[in-house]
Amino acid sequence: MADPVGAGEPAPGGKGAPAAETPSGAPSVSTPVPTIAQVALKGLCPRCGARTLFGSLLGFADWCSVCRLDFAQFNVGDGPAAFLTLILGAIVTGLAVWLELAVGPPLWVHMLLWIPFTAAGVVGSLRLAKAALLASEYRNAAREGKIAGPEA
Ligand SMILES: [Zn+2]
Repeated sequence: MADPVGAGEPAPGGKGAPAAETPSGAPSVSTPVPTIAQVALKGLCPRCGARTLFGSLLGFADWCSVCRLDFAQFNVGDGPAAFLTLILGAIVTGLAVWLELAVGPPLWVHMLLWIPFTAAGVVGSLRLAKAALLASEYRNAAREGKIAGPEA
């Protein structure tokens, strides 16, 4: 049941140059740390700025393939999904009502417009929201609440 010690440490090797002495957990980065907005808009790793955050359309990668930052530790989840979908639904409904009153198009026009619009809007805003949440969690070093144990 013991936690394997050292499993999370980045494996040495690969880089031949002797690394400059840095305190553990704070790698010396040559690139500036991306802002939350940059992380959200481009899907960047919040630590090294590589474009490694998303492993799929809506899912984070397990870890950054460049700096090995463990994305799974940031438990963002799909919390913003329902919230965003509600907002988007209200926007789409408003637009659809406006279009109906202004133009009065046949039903298939509505479907052709709003279904792709809604799908793209949900995916796009979810990506933004999840990446922004992860970036802010990384910045604040947020962790799930746990009782402080004896320092090891
Ligand atoms: Zn990284």
